[in-house]
Amino acid sequence: MTKIRSLGIFCGSKTGADAAFSETARRLGVMLVEKGVRLVYGGGAIGLMGVVAETVLKGGGQVTGVIPDFLMKYEVGNPGVTELIVVDSMHDRKRRMFDVADGFLVLPGGLGTLDETFEIITWKQLQLHTKPIVILNVNGYWRHFTALVDSVIEGDFAHPAVRELFTVVEGLDDVFPALASAPEPREIVLTDHL
Ligand code: AMP
Repeated sequence: MTKIRSLGIFCGSKTGADAAFSETARRLGVMLVEKGVRLVYGGGAIGLMGVVAETVLKGGGQVTGVIPDFLMKYEVGNPGVTELIVVDSMHDRKRRMFDVADGFLVLPGGLGTLDETFEIITWKQLQLHTKPIVILNVNGYWRHFTALVDSVIEGDFAHPAVRELFTVVEGLDDVFPALASAPEPREIVLTDHL
């Protein structure tokens, strides 16, 4: 069982079409403060990332932001964070976020969120880590994500056990139990085709 002290969050740099997305991000921020879990995120002050970070900071919690220097102006690098790590590239950002987080939570988001989510899942498939990955399916937002993974399995480009590399939950209350009970990745997800 993984003890989560720092949680990496991947989510939109917009707030999206459904008010439930921002409300969930806010409630997540409150939950992180209550549990004493450090937020690790992309360092911006906009979109759902801004909502989570602001809520944690207002509540007196700990926030580590990791932002590439070229994005500081677009994502309005949040100067209020406890720790702001400015890196050279998107690759560095993902690497640093990975290093400092004990697990990962995906909220609704756009293409950047998809990129980060698939990267962290594929690193697990490659047995580069065993950290838990949870996807919060707010109002069914990520249903096409799971459908896409199912379709990849159906097309025999991945072993069915890749579904165990991440856990999809429907509500915030299920996030920490899912992080704590995420299964170890099975070797077959890597070796199936070798
Ligand atoms: P989005 O989901 O597109 O709103 O993006 C969410 C976050 O992911 C933002 O901080 C983006 O800067 C970041 N992002 C966008 N594209 C990438 C990428 N290729 N690799 C890593 N992060 C990205």
